[in-house]
Amino acid sequence: MIYFDYTATSKPNEEVLALYQKINADYWSNPSSIYKAGVITNNLFQKCEKDILEVLNLQNKKIYFTSGATEANNLAIYGICNNYLNQDKNIITTKIEHPSVMSCFEDLEKKGFKVTYLSVDEKGIINLEELKQNINNNTILVSTMWVNNIVGTIEPIEEVIKIVKQYPRCKLHVDAVQGIGKIKPTFDFNNVDMFTLSSHKINGLKSSGALIINNKINLQGVLKGATQQEGIRPGTIDVALSAATTKALKLITASRDKHYIYVKELQKYFREQLKNIPNVLINSSEDASPYILNISILNTESETFIHYLEKYEIYVAAGSACNSKIKKPEKTVYAMFHDERRAVTSLRISLSYVTTKEEIDEFIKRLKEFK
Ligand code: PMP
Repeated sequence: MIYFDYTATSKPNEEVLALYQKINADYWSNPSSIYKAGVITNNLFQKCEKDILEVLNLQNKKIYFTSGATEANNLAIYGICNNYLNQDKNIITTKIEHPSVMSCFEDLEKKGFKVTYLSVDEKGIINLEELKQNINNNTILVSTMWVNNIVGTIEPIEEVIKIVKQYPRCKLHVDAVQGIGKIKPTFDFNNVDMFTLSSHKINGLKSSGALIINNKINLQGVLKGATQQEGIRPGTIDVALSAATTKALKLITASRDKHYIYVKELQKYFREQLKNIPNVLINSSEDASPYILNISILNTESETFIHYLEKYEIYVAAGSACNSKIKKPEKTVYAMFHDERRAVTSLRISLSYVTTKEEIDEFIKRLKEFK
């Protein structure tokens, strides 16, 4: 198979799988138990917390392991907003968020919050003027992604930090899922109040991720239960899964810059091969993440082309896999170009450090043959 959907998920790393199995075999006791076996398992868990904060160079932060970025995004957003129900507060997000952020804001809007959805330009960059115009002392939360999962736009988080910092009550949440382990940040995560990561995007395991927050933040847990993870994220802790996430993060971070250079070169090659092919438009800007290349094949709806490629075992996506059953113009591409045709014919090709030029050649060959 030729897999171009690494943004949807990535193959678990062998070392990560081995560690997961080892911990399940040797340290499977409940880390909340007060006897020795539990204490040993709990020590392993605490080491995971410490290691993740260390790998990301974080100080004065705490981490909550979750069932993935969807849960972590929900925890961040409701964790703040539930403190302010029925108080006429403003919250701000963007028009291009992942559904795990967007749906929370839509729900909170129904519950009485005033929501601003920031627009984006043709590169997918959020409108900072709109942010400045809408943020005020009544704003309690701004949530924006770092790297967009559909077109790869890298958002100007350092600028957002400067703006939000002027409003001490307002918290900044960043969905960092598509950036962590792939892109070197040009901002300091220590200046972001809360951010989210997902393990299966970085060769870790599915249904695991984390929310990392500034340790002064008063977050309300969403789930009600016992006191694990300070009661903010209750439920028996899966130490093996937390260790797998930690390992995946360590491994990907160690090779991040080397991978980046390789994938950037691949993306450049891909773009060159796409030149002069009729009806093909490139939607991702040149300064976007090299891991994502979004194109539109104007005479073919996304789904038709996906199924055509599937016959050759080439896999690409139309948009986010999480929304792929719903046939609508792709939201991010539409927000950028306001062009329905371009949005319904868009394809997300996502690359990895294991992608090869030969795989790209095969894609181009099938694209040229397509009638
Ligand atoms: N945010 C972004 C930007 C994503 O790409 C994804 C995964 N598609 C998520 C959140 C949700 O992650 P998870 O699958 O871990 O719930």
